[in-house]
Amino acid sequence: MSNMDSNWEAVIGLEVHVQLNTRTKLFSRTRNGDVSAAPNQHANLVDLAYPGTLPVLNQAALTHAIRFGAAIDGSLARVCSFERKHYFYPDLPKGYQISQYSQPIVGSGVFSLWFEDGHTKAVRIRRAHLEEDAGKSIHDRLPDSTVLDFNRAGTPLLEIVTEPDLRTPSEAAMFLRQLHALVIWLGLGSGNLYEGAIRCDANVSLRSQGNNSFGTACELKNLNSFKFLKNALRYEIERQDNVLSSGASVRRETRSYDPMSGTTKSIRKKEQQREYRYFPDPDLPPIPISETTISEIKTSMPELPANVRDRFVRNFNLTPDKAYRLTLEKPLAELFEATVKSCKDPQATANWILGEVIATRKRKQYRAHDIPISARQLSQLIERVKGGTLSFNAAKELVGRLWGTNQDLDQIIKTHDITQISDSDQISHWATRVVEENKELISKLLNGEEKLYEYFIGQVMKLSHGKANPQLVRQALERLVSKKDKHNSSENDD
Ligand code: ADP
Ligand code: MG
Repeated sequence: MSNMDSNWEAVIGLEVHVQLNTRTKLFSRTRNGDVSAAPNQHANLVDLAYPGTLPVLNQAALTHAIRFGAAIDGSLARVCSFERKHYFYPDLPKGYQISQYSQPIVGSGVFSLWFEDGHTKAVRIRRAHLEEDAGKSIHDRLPDSTVLDFNRAGTPLLEIVTEPDLRTPSEAAMFLRQLHALVIWLGLGSGNLYEGAIRCDANVSLRSQGNNSFGTACELKNLNSFKFLKNALRYEIERQDNVLSSGASVRRETRSYDPMSGTTKSIRKKEQQREYRYFPDPDLPPIPISETTISEIKTSMPELPANVRDRFVRNFNLTPDKAYRLTLEKPLAELFEATVKSCKDPQATANWILGEVIATRKRKQYRAHDIPISARQLSQLIERVKGGTLSFNAAKELVGRLWGTNQDLDQIIKTHDITQISDSDQISHWATRVVEENKELISKLLNGEEKLYEYFIGQVMKLSHGKANPQLVRQALERLVSKKDKHNSSENDD
């Protein structure tokens, strides 16, 4: 990639398929999104394309699409239509996919991409349209044959297409991460990448630096993680760089990424324009969308993550990065705001949530967005730590104990005997012992190495098994040290 920096610039555009979490499918009343179902449990005659069946549009899917459109300030169609897109595939029983072509529900909009240092970049969205997902061909269930599962057939998809505005693999991965967060924030889908609820195709081409026209792009299919997207693009950029630098030209083709080897390989050449024979689906007349519907949906929108993020920086003085991480998930942002309301300490709250709360969720293998700890519990905990009636380590452990209970902090402290030791005799006993055992360090401390206090406090905390009140420990140590100091100076006087 050595000459990437000087010669070539990458141009990247994404097509992201988002499975919508509607109760039923896009055109039938079959249950949608039941990932634990047995194969073909949720496939009715419409999904299986039996002759004589008719599709009926699921209004909830349309509403979801409009919500997305409103979030990216996209133009919203007042009439949208559905077309048939023809191709043959065993898991596509109709022989065509119902999609939107000429009148997508969402037209051009803008996604504001956020970067670590707080600056943003407008990534233009070309369109977002509704279409149905296909069934699934399963190749590894039986030894010699492929089997078909139609549970997924007819699942509503929102396909979001960007303009080629992205320039680096990490920019593309950031975009997908933030789009993913927005989809879940708006309640449009589970966003579960592992289950294929968000799938991304990446188009990438190179052009010489300073050139305004685009080069020939390759399409990388079905990248289902942020990391795969980034790695696939990195590999592909290097490959195209080699092709172009050798004087050859890049062929327009569709490629697939193999995460095991980290490489992409060609799966088909793109014909000039694939012939899908799009035509309006005669069973689905164009759908008018009233101003009332649009304004009702717009007023029901939650505050958008970008807005909440900026507000957190402005009102609570959080770093852009902390504000960003808190607004990747709505429940985190809500927990933050509610906790700050009662404990009035935004920095401590942000640190506790981004630190121990998220770590506990990971440790307990809870799914993202699931945080069974309440603002009341968290703010009580923060207040106690600040007030010195709970040590930091005990508090960390308490987050795990509070997890999933609705109990009061005090209750848990009592049950688990985590009460703090504030007995000053006991504490000064420990402190004296530590001071006696570390005479050399004490003289250093007396010579001005004040940060050694932390070390001494830590030693006393150890003796107390983490239960001593750290503030009382500090006071006890300070008393002992100042005694020694006086002692020293009186010696000098002699
Ligand atoms: P179509 O599939 O209808 O031909 P395009 O190829 O124009 O549409 O766009 C499909 C996706 O490819 C879009 O996300 C677009 O941003 C991206 N794209 C188009 N041209 C290029 C290019 N030269 N380099 C990288 N991405 C591109
Ligand atoms: Mg599509």
